[in-house]
Amino acid sequence: PAPPPPSRPTKRRRRAPPQPPAPHAGARGGILAAASRPAAYPKAGAGAGGIVAPGSSVHELLECPVCTNSMYPPIHQCQNGHTLCSTCKARVHNRCPTCRQELGDIRCLALEKVAESLELPCKYYSLGCPEIFPYYSKIKHEAMCSFRPYSCPYAGSECSVTGDIPYLVNHLRDDHKVDMHSGCTFNHRYVKSNPREVENATWMLTVFHCFGQYFCLHFEAFQLGMAPVYMAFLRFMGDENEARNYSYSLEVGANGRKMVWEGTPRSVRDSHRKVRDSHDGLLIQRNMALFFSGGDRKELKLRITGRIWKETQTPDGTCVPVLCS
Ligand SMILES: [Zn+2]
Ligand SMILES: [Zn+2]
Ligand SMILES: [Zn+2]
Ligand SMILES: [Zn+2]
Repeated sequence: PAPPPPSRPTKRRRRAPPQPPAPHAGARGGILAAASRPAAYPKAGAGAGGIVAPGSSVHELLECPVCTNSMYPPIHQCQNGHTLCSTCKARVHNRCPTCRQELGDIRCLALEKVAESLELPCKYYSLGCPEIFPYYSKIKHEAMCSFRPYSCPYAGSECSVTGDIPYLVNHLRDDHKVDMHSGCTFNHRYVKSNPREVENATWMLTVFHCFGQYFCLHFEAFQLGMAPVYMAFLRFMGDENEARNYSYSLEVGANGRKMVWEGTPRSVRDSHRKVRDSHDGLLIQRNMALFFSGGDRKELKLRITGRIWKETQTPDGTCVPVLCS
C-alpha cells in the first residue's frame, strides 16, 4: 500500500505580498484581512463556535506564516498586524518576517479569541479520525489519537519512518530485511559466537503474522548494572487496547531446566527501549544463558520457543484461550 497521505492538507496560501509599511497596512495579512472575506468566518447558526474545515481561511489565519504550524497563545503580531507563533517570534530577532518592521511585543488577542471559538477536525482526519475538537484541546487529542501514524518498530537504529501497520510491515520486510513468519507458534535460535561482548546494540527482530495481526519478537542483549542479560519479548503491531486481546509465552531451556515467560504483548506505541527497561519479557541472566547454551561457554546458543494466542471472553465473562489453526 502507498504511504499514508501527509497529515497536513495542502496549503492554499492567499497572502498578500509584503507591503511597504503604511498606516493601515494592518489590513493586509493580519486578522483584519479576514473581515473582508466574511465567507471565511464560521457559518452563522453553527452555534457559539463553528466547525471549520482545514484549508479554510480561518484555519489558514491560525497557521503561523513562518513555520506553518498551528498557532497557540501567545499569538504575536507586528505593528502592521502580521501574525506569527511564539516559537518563531523567538527566532526572528525582533523583525517581522513579512514586512521587516520591528516586531515589538504585541499579542494578537483577537486572533486568540477567534481560535477559542473554533472547532476543528483532528489533524488525522485524512487517516480516518472523525473527531472534532475545540481548537485548544485538539493538540492534546492528537497526541493520543488512535489514528495517528505508528513509528517504525525496528530497534537498533534511529528510523524516522511512520505509517499505518500494513505500510510498516512492508517497510520492515523491504527496508530492514526483517524475517517474516506466519503462524502462532515459533521456534527461534539465537547464536552468538562471543557472548562476552555485550554491546547495547545487540538485538534481533522477527515479525509474526497470525490472527490477522502482526507481532514483533525482539531478542536483545544488554547490560543490566554490571551483568549482561538477554531478553526476549513480543510487541503487538497495533494499539494497546487491542494488544490486550492477546497473550504469549516464551520458553528457553536445556539440560532438564527451563524458564517460561507468559505475558501480554506490549503495543508498538511503546518503544522497544521502554519495554526493555520495564523488563516486561523473558529475562535470562548470562550465566543461565551460557548454561542453556551447553558446550564450553564459548558460544551463546539459545533456543526459544513461543506461542501466541487470543483471549476471548465467553458470555459468562470467563477468558478462553483461542489458538490459531
Ligand atoms: Zn511559527
Ligand atoms: Zn509585519
Ligand atoms: Zn484524532
Ligand atoms: Zn524503519
